[in-house]
Amino acid sequence: MTIKELYNKYRNALAEIYPLHEAKAIAQCVMEYQHSIDKKTLLVFDTKELSCDNKIVEKNIKMLKAHYPVQYLNGECEFYGRTFIVDENVLIPRNETEELVKLISEEYAGKNPEILDIGCGSGAISISLALEIKNALVEAIDISKKALIIAEKNALKNKTSNIKFIECDILKCENLNKKYDIIVSNPPYVLEKEKIQMQDNVLNYEPKLALFVPNNKPLMFYEKIASLATTALKNNGKLYFEINQAFGKETKDMLKDKGFNDIKIIKDINDNDRIVEAIWTK
Ligand code: GLN
Repeated sequence: MTIKELYNKYRNALAEIYPLHEAKAIAQCVMEYQHSIDKKTLLVFDTKELSCDNKIVEKNIKMLKAHYPVQYLNGECEFYGRTFIVDENVLIPRNETEELVKLISEEYAGKNPEILDIGCGSGAISISLALEIKNALVEAIDISKKALIIAEKNALKNKTSNIKFIECDILKCENLNKKYDIIVSNPPYVLEKEKIQMQDNVLNYEPKLALFVPNNKPLMFYEKIASLATTALKNNGKLYFEINQAFGKETKDMLKDKGFNDIKIIKDINDNDRIVEAIWTK
């Protein structure tokens, strides 16, 4: 089989369940990670013969057609220009979260902030910040031991040594016992009732623990983290949240009530309210 034929095989199978542009992107991603054929090779050497195990190809197609996320199939994905290990214990890092990392990295470039990432999952945020802000001291917590194992692997893979990973259920935490310059979090924020709008690849395979909050408690993580932040942020320390686009105003009002200043709602590339930042001034 030629490189092009294999790509077409994946693309055609995927086009049965995804729009064509998505089928192409996924097929290209499988070619790159599973068959070591990058985008350029795919383009230039498309007629070259490729030896590949047919059983593996068929298994890949079967899983992808069952909406299994390509990132889990590959075991890796890209985030902020780096490769992260992912499995079903961690959320697949999203583009919106890269925007959060960009915002913080640009603001703190050349500084030496102490950072806490709450609900770190794969470590995408904490590891990226530790690498982008060279002198940062980063702590990252998560309720899931299995997620922390992946995060530790990612820290090793990306050669970061200045991160401390801690197992902790933030909802049960009474005091953070330390002061930080930055507290950042992308907590669960999808409402149970929003499940109906979600794609099978997310709904059936990504960790529910990292995604959902009850319909009647959309801000439960934000309220808890903001309360903790009032004693755990240094003077002029900053809180950064990734949020559900439907709750920008509510999150802002809640932070105002708790005494935060300069609260900003920032839109993502799709023009949805996605990030809220606020300053704590004593
Ligand atoms: N942005 C993710 C999604 O759309 C949700 C992330 C989260 O709940 N923190 O599925």
